[in-house]
Amino acid sequence: MVKAVVGANWGDEGKGKITDMLAERADIIIRFQGGANAGHTIINDYGKFALHTLPSGVFYDHTTSIIGNGVALDVPVLFKEIQSIIDRGVPAPKILVSDRAQMVMSYHKNFDAYEEERLGGKSFGSTKSGIAPFYSDKYAKIGFQVSELFDEELLKEKAARIADQKNVMLEHLYHKPLIKPEELYHELMEYKEMIEPYVCDTSSYLYHALKEGKEILLEGQLGTLKDPDHGIYPMVTSSSTLAAYGAIGAGIPPYEIKKVITVCKAYSSAVGAGAFVSEIFGEEADELRRRGGDGGEFGATTGRPRRMGWFDCVASKYGCRLQGTTDVAFTVLDVLGYLDEIPVCVGYEIDGEVTKDFPVTHLLEKAKPVLTKLPGWKCDIRGIKTYEELPENCRKYVEFVEEQIGYPITMVSNGPGRDDIIYR
Ligand code: GDP
Repeated sequence: MVKAVVGANWGDEGKGKITDMLAERADIIIRFQGGANAGHTIINDYGKFALHTLPSGVFYDHTTSIIGNGVALDVPVLFKEIQSIIDRGVPAPKILVSDRAQMVMSYHKNFDAYEEERLGGKSFGSTKSGIAPFYSDKYAKIGFQVSELFDEELLKEKAARIADQKNVMLEHLYHKPLIKPEELYHELMEYKEMIEPYVCDTSSYLYHALKEGKEILLEGQLGTLKDPDHGIYPMVTSSSTLAAYGAIGAGIPPYEIKKVITVCKAYSSAVGAGAFVSEIFGEEADELRRRGGDGGEFGATTGRPRRMGWFDCVASKYGCRLQGTTDVAFTVLDVLGYLDEIPVCVGYEIDGEVTKDFPVTHLLEKAKPVLTKLPGWKCDIRGIKTYEELPENCRKYVEFVEEQIGYPITMVSNGPGRDDIIYR
């Protein structure tokens, strides 16, 4: 059976923790999109880890971790990450890399940085990991696929061709150093050496695994609102963040995805630019940021302070709908224990009219939050193991959100650890 763990919102919902937890009973965990531009924070018996490329299941010795064909594969980052977990005592994980995955090249990262520099104040707030230039090239059919590393003739010719093409932009638009074909070829050969032991026809591997009845998890990066089609375009990421894309980015049939576990955080946070209707500012935001997540809401990859806001029912309902949610995992609920009253965004006012439907971007920019306040529970709920033991106001908060978004909250996370989970 295949389960997808995906985000309803802007990312950082706690997917890493939920995946790590569910991986205990899984055989295979797959990353199917995105790259090293976002991270998952995981706390387990080995310590606290920020992963960017490896799936969150790498900490168990019974799991196989797959980098699917849909991922923007940053070979040096993957290697550093594997080494860094081994250095901290985690048994060497079993990793397979799709022979159809494409690689982020150093020039992709340079182009990302040059473009941000060129745009100045109008930039997209990119993490400069090369993701947008990478996916542009993939769809322009000038990317490097892992399988191509094993055809040296083709690679030499292609390195020269790509250098020619990229150098026009480097010279005339960015006024930056040019790409030398020999250096590009050398970079590719280095990647080949690093990646060779892991390369696999992963869709075929998964075909057989499914026949054998293996438990498979698809781990999404970011969330619905960062999807290039269904998110807050253009302030989105460059690959689809939806569970449906898991079929493509892993190479499995869509009908095999039986469960879509959509992760929603009990309040909102976002990184990068773009409309964020329920955003809060000043001391109110600082306090939530300080208390949020595990040790504060700061980006796992960038360390940037996250933008903070109240729970947004409009965005989350939409986010869950586009994922095709079967289960909601409601996370980081423990953090709200300090509040007397908890504001929740239940509608958007746009041009004087209130809506509960998430709009397209130009209308979203005009939306003002319609807030309602729920009473707080004013205590620490960490360590509680059953739903009935949660304070009444806490349960009311969960049930209010569940009714507003219209999807069943079957898991409530009340702490960052693997065991901090309440099933309903
Ligand atoms: P992801 O990208 O969706 O995996 O999310 P991140 O890992 O970037 O952010 C989630 C943060 O919240 C991490 O620091 C987690 O350790 C932490 N976290 C996850 N679930 C809980 C929870 O229920 N309570 C608390 N306090 N922290 C949590």
